[in-house]
Amino acid sequence: MADPRGFLKVTQRVTQPKRPVPIRLMDYREVLQRQQQGTLQQQAGRCMDCGVPFCHNGCPLGNLIPEFNDLVYKDRMDDAAARLLSTNNFPELTGKLCPAPCESSCVLGINQPAVTIKQVEAELAEHLMDAGDFTPCPPERHTEYRVAIVGSGPAGLAAAQQLTRAGHTVAVYERDEAIGGLLRFGIPDFKLEKQVVDRRLAQMAAEGTIFRTGIEIGTDITWDALRRDYDAVIIATGASVPRDLPVPGRELNGVHHAMEFLAENNRVVAGLKQERSIDAAGKHVVILGGGDTGSDCIGTALRQGAASVTTLAIGKQPGTERSENHPWPMMPVLFEVQSSHEEGGERSYLASTVNFVSDGDRHDANNLNKVIGVTVAETEFVAGKRLPKPGTERVIKADLVLLALGFTGPEDSGLDEQVSTEFNNLGNVARDGYYMTNADAVFVAGDAGRGASLIVWAIAEGRACAASVDKFLTGSTTLPAPVAPTDRAISII
Ligand SMILES: Cc1cc2nc3c(=O)[nH]c(=O)nc-3n(C[C@H](O)[C@H](O)[C@H](O)COP(=O)(O)OP(=O)(O)OC[C@H]3O[C@@H](n4cnc5c(N)ncnc54)[C@H](O)[C@@H]3O)c2cc1C
Ligand code: SF4
Repeated sequence: MADPRGFLKVTQRVTQPKRPVPIRLMDYREVLQRQQQGTLQQQAGRCMDCGVPFCHNGCPLGNLIPEFNDLVYKDRMDDAAARLLSTNNFPELTGKLCPAPCESSCVLGINQPAVTIKQVEAELAEHLMDAGDFTPCPPERHTEYRVAIVGSGPAGLAAAQQLTRAGHTVAVYERDEAIGGLLRFGIPDFKLEKQVVDRRLAQMAAEGTIFRTGIEIGTDITWDALRRDYDAVIIATGASVPRDLPVPGRELNGVHHAMEFLAENNRVVAGLKQERSIDAAGKHVVILGGGDTGSDCIGTALRQGAASVTTLAIGKQPGTERSENHPWPMMPVLFEVQSSHEEGGERSYLASTVNFVSDGDRHDANNLNKVIGVTVAETEFVAGKRLPKPGTERVIKADLVLLALGFTGPEDSGLDEQVSTEFNNLGNVARDGYYMTNADAVFVAGDAGRGASLIVWAIAEGRACAASVDKFLTGSTTLPAPVAPTDRAISII
């Protein structure tokens, strides 16, 4: 145990400092800064090394949390980092971006602030980077088996690293011009600078993973051709179909899906595109949807120089304390103040969008009118449905509207037609308890099979799917399988 009296002596949670708002709004560099080693050790020392560590259960990866907390407290950072890497391929991602379900289930959280588990993880990842410790771990022996992985987000990458290290020849196919999935072209640089992803990719390439960009499976190569060329195929294509809002005025110029805005901005920041076609500079921006994607739009719009940013959420404002519906150790729905919320903008709850307001008959080159406002009404709950309350309508000025309403599931991409892959009633690629679809030797992991979710789940599913593929190919496996396949009923992003 780290320090038997640690949680009695140190009762406050201290997480890492952030760059000051006026400075960070001038660039796209990461907001979070490093934590002092002494503070980190004190915080890790709050861990009680519980006999039944509920944090383990909260973490989809099964991270060995009390063990690495103890080692960090003792300043044995190399050993602690090794413990973390034994269960998590990419702690640099989860340390920076995970909403930390482990902390929601930390036993200390019953009557004190939870241990800063995510912070410890983030610093261990930084420690690995400082030490240049991204040493490639190529397999000692190669097998004769070849695996194709389609999609290069965290699920595809985790599966690729596990299977490459198990000795198989692994090729990752990606339709975008660069590897990384939503890590590259979704999550803004102020949350995750892309050299963090590049460093891990360099390690994976040195281990032998093959990356093929700019190839869309289903179009450039058919799924059945891929299936014939490889011994197994993993679908890790994410859940990128955005939820739409088919209200009057949806077709107006200036109303966009959030991902069009975010992906383009990431390309401009990376120098892959010269100019933005959707620019918030000087505009009144209205974001529909109060989740992670919405908050990423706030930070991006403010950095582009928006005149104002308003987020509208259809539901009630969540509370700041656990509700009775989410008792410990469940992950509660709480009012979140993410780094983008600290930077500016207003948030409005119980706001139902009625229609988008047009500027009249001033058609642009595409014969479309421009949006100049959003009509919203108070949300009322009628027979379990959220509806706009008549008589409460008001218009909010808007030159740019971003729809951040979640995702309905994966794209079909020819899967059904070319390899007869079935989709389940939630719209996700259907799979059995071993991540295999109804098509022989075709597996699925991450958001494509689960629905839009989190990076930690994508990594966990990628690892578990790799174990299933290894067993399918060789008859047995020593790869870990941290989670069984499950579906998310609704998208939370
Ligand atoms: C804006 C935004 C912010 C987010 N922020 C967070 C966060 O802070 N923390 C967190 O935990 N989660 C966050 N998430 C969720 C997280 O990014 C996803 O859950 C995770 O990336 C899913 O991983 P994946 O590997 O399943 O799919 P993805 O990351 O979506 O990758 C799928 C890849 O497959 C490629 N692809 C699709 N079809 C084909 C095809 N036919 N051929 C070839 N390639 C194909 C796509 O181009 C894409 O690169 C966020 C999501 C969004 C949209
Ligand atoms: S539940 Fe919290 S206090 Fe207990 S072992 Fe896990 S991190 Fe430590």
